[in-house]
Amino acid sequence: SYRKGGYHAVRVGDSFAGGRYIAQRKLGWGEFSTVWLAYDTKSSNYVALKIQKSAPQFAQAALHEIELLSAIADGDPTNSKCVVRLLDQFKHTGPNGQHLCMVLEFLGDSLLRLIKYNRYKGLELNKVREICKCILIGLDYLHRELGIIHTDLKPENILLVSTIDPAKDPIRSGYTPILERPEGNPNSGVTLNGIEKKLKRRARRAVARISERRASMGGVVRNPKPERSLNGINVSCKVVDFGNACWANKQFAKEIQTRQYRAPEVVLHSGYSFSVDMWSFACTAFELATGEMLFTPKGGQGFDEDEDHLALMMERLGKMPRKIAIGGARSKDYFDRHGDLKRIRRLKYLPLDRLLVDKFKFSDTDAREFSEFLIPILDFAPEKRPTAQQCLQHPWLNINLTHNEEKNETSLKKVVVGMSNLNINVGK
Ligand code: ATP
Ligand code: MG
Ligand code: MG
Repeated sequence: SYRKGGYHAVRVGDSFAGGRYIAQRKLGWGEFSTVWLAYDTKSSNYVALKIQKSAPQFAQAALHEIELLSAIADGDPTNSKCVVRLLDQFKHTGPNGQHLCMVLEFLGDSLLRLIKYNRYKGLELNKVREICKCILIGLDYLHRELGIIHTDLKPENILLVSTIDPAKDPIRSGYTPILERPEGNPNSGVTLNGIEKKLKRRARRAVARISERRASMGGVVRNPKPERSLNGINVSCKVVDFGNACWANKQFAKEIQTRQYRAPEVVLHSGYSFSVDMWSFACTAFELATGEMLFTPKGGQGFDEDEDHLALMMERLGKMPRKIAIGGARSKDYFDRHGDLKRIRRLKYLPLDRLLVDKFKFSDTDAREFSEFLIPILDFAPEKRPTAQQCLQHPWLNINLTHNEEKNETSLKKVVVGMSNLNINVGK
């Protein structure tokens, strides 16, 4: 994809926006873009630089994403709503064309990687609770204040807030920004204009000061790594990737969401609203707590993925009410007029709390409380699902952790977490 219309090839030390941002290392990539850790010489801060593919359809998508991200940033001046912040945007012309670039706040690992590091065992319920609160704060903001549906909520699109901020604490993080392409690079030594030279000089002086201080402290130099463990209390996270998001009153796609996190009304083409994000949220919460996806539909003999998906939902949540089952544009493909699946007959109902106990070895209490939180969000009737705002009031998120071995830590922990929720990244 590194050809005309595709990705822009980046090397460590490359500079962007007239020398302001300097590429440090690749953070990730997706279908539309590559994302780099970059050093912002103007603010002496690290940022994530999302460089879009250049073809018109990707530029179009980036403009849409920028429109949503701008509204998100404008409505949240203190950056406390658990949604990624757009800091800047510009165009960059390279050999493959003109690329729209988004400058985003630098965040840490995704929840998907966190689940992997934890060897798919599931996270402690107290961590799951803290993560759920952040996601819900983000969703409540998007839904109620902005009218935005994310449409692709899943662990991969929720990033931890990195607890070590290399820019704010360069000494402890031990990272010195790279300011130009390393020696031996064929394209090094590009001519700089006056402003670029000035920015670089300033950045170099700052780096020299940091290195000096670090040397005097016997520090080691390494790259800033996002947080890989959830030790300590900082489990705040942010919702990212607004490439598929939409204004609720300007929907454009019928087929939304990643398969496993897709709501039944999307499968059946019955129309959708904010509550599709709530369904994905419940799937995500289950996955965090167990390490396994709630629904993993597969096509089989005589039936396809969609029908399997509907069958799995009913095996876990009970029979879909007939009115809902037969109410979608695609209903006739899967349901007969009684509201029974056409090709998959004998369903084995195993309620969520039983599954949590039998398969995932939850205690009866944990299983019951967690299910009581999740089941209403997994209502087949979209309008009956609680909103993010209502979920935030649910007792499960504010449980008095008396049946937990961390009893003694609890009160202190709750105070600190409560405070950090008020102050998440203020002024970052
Ligand atoms: P997709 O195909 O998922 O739509 P995309 O091209 O829109 O991909 P993103 O999902 O926004 O790109 O980003 C790709 C990857 O880059 C992410 O999965 C994540 O690993 C990393 N990333 C994105 N934004 C940030 C950020 N703000 N801080 C740190 N890493 C990030
Ligand atoms: Mg993504
Ligand atoms: Mg995207």
